[in-house]
Amino acid sequence: TIHQLYERRPLSQSSARRDAAHFIDGAFTQGTTGKSWENFHPVDGSLIGRVPEGGRAEVDAAVTAAHAALRGDWGRMSVVERTDLLGAVADEINRRFDEFLEAECLDTGKPMSLASHIDIPRGAANFKMFTDVAKTVATECFPMTTPDGAGALNYALRRPRGVIAVISPWNLPLLLMTWKVGPALALGNAVVVKPSEETPLTATLLGEAMNKVGVPRGVYNVVHGLGPNSAGELLTQHPRVNGVTFTGETRTGEAIMRQAAHGIRPVSFELGGKNPALIFADADLDKAVEGTMRSAFSNCGQVCLGTERVYVERLIFDEFVARLKQGAESLRPGRPEDPSTGIGPLVSKEHQAKVLSYYARAIEEGATVITGGGVPKVPADLAGGSWIEPTIWTGAPDNAAIVNEEIFGPCCHIRPFDTEEEAIELANSTPYGLAAAVWTENLSRAHRVASRMDVGICWVNSWFLRDLRTAFGGAKQSGIGREGGVHSLEFYTELTNICVKL
Ligand code: NAD
Repeated sequence: TIHQLYERRPLSQSSARRDAAHFIDGAFTQGTTGKSWENFHPVDGSLIGRVPEGGRAEVDAAVTAAHAALRGDWGRMSVVERTDLLGAVADEINRRFDEFLEAECLDTGKPMSLASHIDIPRGAANFKMFTDVAKTVATECFPMTTPDGAGALNYALRRPRGVIAVISPWNLPLLLMTWKVGPALALGNAVVVKPSEETPLTATLLGEAMNKVGVPRGVYNVVHGLGPNSAGELLTQHPRVNGVTFTGETRTGEAIMRQAAHGIRPVSFELGGKNPALIFADADLDKAVEGTMRSAFSNCGQVCLGTERVYVERLIFDEFVARLKQGAESLRPGRPEDPSTGIGPLVSKEHQAKVLSYYARAIEEGATVITGGGVPKVPADLAGGSWIEPTIWTGAPDNAAIVNEEIFGPCCHIRPFDTEEEAIELANSTPYGLAAAVWTENLSRAHRVASRMDVGICWVNSWFLRDLRTAFGGAKQSGIGREGGVHSLEFYTELTNICVKL
């Protein structure tokens, strides 16, 4: 039905020009800096609209509005009233599903078949899931003895941390932003969001949903802008921000950590990855190929949990490479609204240049290109888009950049291994530690190998299967802290221990 909506005209032509706006204290505004940038549809390079760049005044106004909300109605609400409102936000996203879907696909160029199953439903689910956590959370109590024999009671109260800065990336814009905003609000905080400059629309649209269902003004604020010397930097170093949660590149995380250090406040970081898949000869090969196809190429490879290093037991190496090649070559580039589209474009021309620089680097590093390696031929009406070929390499040395650095494109390097021990060592050999996938039908091996992966999440015989109650985050340089389920309490609340002498 979604595709029928767009059957007649491409998405980029069927919608009027859309300018983004800041959402501060419950109102949309273009701000006062007079600065803005153009937002392009990555599918054909057409102009979507302009995005205002926030400065000190906008960040200040948003942080002030958020504090006022905490002191006002929002801060006084019972947890049931608060979570009912967030449930209504989820319903409102679902009610306006097509608008959110259209906005997300305009900004990112990703296929609607993907965003309608992942991005938008998960964006709504993030509000529902954390309301359950907030309503059922318990705290600890320690009765203690005292010299006078009367004793004392310690119990902990969980209170909102305050104003949370949310800095989000462009690859799954609504999903990753609400993954932070959902728990932050459910637990009683107020937020100021700085969405990625590439994908401003769904964060803006969410402001309308907040107003529609009656979330008090100042609870959810959006300030658009860039990172350094712009809204991102100003927000993360703002003295009245009480915590910074960030999803994005590891290098950006380093900068944000420095910025957040002024005035001391906690950070929660979900950062980059260079995730391995280990495929043993005893794996179900059909499933391993299908899973690796998704983990390497879905969302045009722009998934933090995606696989860019594949290690295959030598016995099945040639067959695996041949089958993944066949799969990669079957992915047809196309418009988001076309149901036969197998792969969308990269998010921007800049990102395309970055990924292509790694494609060139692969050749310099002596890799064999099994398939892809460049820009695909696309119809004339898509020529302005940031298209890229799904790419598979073999034969690069273990210290090659393409084997160690996060590329964030639809590409992977496949290398054979001979023993389990070697596979584990290779998998753990980068400074990243976000995710891993292990493919084997041997039960003992599955548990043994998974338990030795230096990562935040390891899948066995699957990929991207996510239970939102579980701890999510990265090991090593892939993150700081865990979010998800009760683990989100750690960052979004402050524990006050109350000691009562009896
Ligand atoms: P990015 O780090 O370039 O940007 C992310 C956000 O940070 C943007 O909103 C940007 O404007 C902002 N920013 C940049 N510099 C800043 C600064 N100095 N101060 C404050 N804000 C600043 O990341 P991206 O390119 O948007 O996203 C892709 C990256 O995100 C990849 O590295 C990917 O692995 C990672 N990622 C991680 C996860 C995870 O859960 N671990 C999920 C998705 C994406």
